[in-house]
Amino acid sequence: MRLDIVSIFPEYLAPLELSLVGKAVRTGIVELAVHDLRQWTHDRHRTVDDTPYGGGAGMVMKPDPWGEALDALVPPGTAGDPVLLVMTPSGRRFDQALAAELAGERHLVVACGRYEGIDARVVEHARSRLRVLEVSLGDYVLNGGEAAALAITEAVVRLLPGVIGNPASLTEESHAAGHDGLLEYPVYTKPPSWRGLDVPPVLFSGHHGQIAAWRREQAVERTRQRRPDLLPSEYDPLVVARAVEA
Ligand code: SAM
Repeated sequence: MRLDIVSIFPEYLAPLELSLVGKAVRTGIVELAVHDLRQWTHDRHRTVDDTPYGGGAGMVMKPDPWGEALDALVPPGTAGDPVLLVMTPSGRRFDQALAAELAGERHLVVACGRYEGIDARVVEHARSRLRVLEVSLGDYVLNGGEAAALAITEAVVRLLPGVIGNPASLTEESHAAGHDGLLEYPVYTKPPSWRGLDVPPVLFSGHHGQIAAWRREQAVERTRQRRPDLLPSEYDPLVVARAVEA
């Protein structure tokens, strides 16, 4: 996968050199480049923002540097059918399903906004020649798109083949499609007793069937308590009761 991230604070993306994403870059699973938007400015002050038409607070990112950046990173005829991801609180809310979709792409270009956002014509123009997805990290406002780009990159890259040592860890975890979208069951390690709290005895039983059943039960219960909105209908007690009656 190729990943181009554009920001006025390229240093903000430095953590991508660390841990599993950094390793994925070093081993060639991901080709990552972070670009300073200001390289596509032409004035002495390397200006990327201006006052908003119509008045109001704050500044707006100018279209010219963004237009030039996208022309340079995705010239017409670029192979791999790139997707432009524009970070914005008014975009599609990022989740595990979207992470899985994006992990199937060959080339992602991530645009990090600042100030009051990017002049709306940039997205409008990009849509005329590229696949564009406006993405929100969640229902809150950040100062810039960099933290969203970090989170999205990490969630996507860990799904690429070869990034996580044991791919089975991806199927059982919270929000995973193979796990019915349930939250993960509680996990424990040594010692067996810690500050008066014991590891549930079933986990020492060595009985794989019982352990799997216990974990399933815990995952359902935890999802019911913490995120009932995520609970698949087959676990909804009303649906189960109706099915038993029928
Ligand atoms: N005025 C904008 C609004 O109300 O929608 C918010 C602008 S915000 C201060 C500056 C930049 O941070 C945005 O252009 C976007 O790139 C990024 N940003 C802020 N919140 C975000 C979120 N929840 N998800 C993704 N990006 C976000």
